[in-house]
Amino acid sequence: MPVDTVEKLLVEELKDLYSAENQITKALPKMAKNANAAELRTALETHLHQTEGQIKRLDRVFGILGKSATGKTCEGMKGLLEEGDRVMKESEGDVRDAAMISAAQKVEHYEMAGYGSARAWAQQLGQAEIADLLQQTLNEEGETDHKLSQLAGKINKSAHRHAA
Ligand code: FE
Ligand code: FE
Repeated sequence: MPVDTVEKLLVEELKDLYSAENQITKALPKMAKNANAAELRTALETHLHQTEGQIKRLDRVFGILGKSATGKTCEGMKGLLEEGDRVMKESEGDVRDAAMISAAQKVEHYEMAGYGSARAWAQQLGQAEIADLLQQTLNEEGETDHKLSQLAGKINKSAHRHAA
């Protein structure tokens, strides 16, 4: 069946995000375990808890729409997480932290693009409650991205020092 309405497009995007979030909950504990800097570990663990809340928010959105959340694999997130996993294995120490921050920021940006589009479509459809729920998650992803940028400022310096 073709995706020929904005409502169908919204449901498809939400399914993609639902799959992405579930993949992220599996990847984050491994990343946190591999983090060298305590601050990075804490940030990743904090975002794991946020991500679990984001999945609950998506459950509410699917409830409002009367649709099922499952049945789709987010291939984009699968690729991003595979790349992150590879770079994590190939690097070490502070440099690995720097690499993990970059991988995590790619994940956040992917999510922000998805949630931003979904929120706009929900707004267009007059689904104010859904738009509000998606905005809450969008804010959390943005804050996480910002936090990671701050951490990169410190960790990149130290990675560079150790390499010298
Ligand atoms: Fe998320
Ligand atoms: Fe996120």
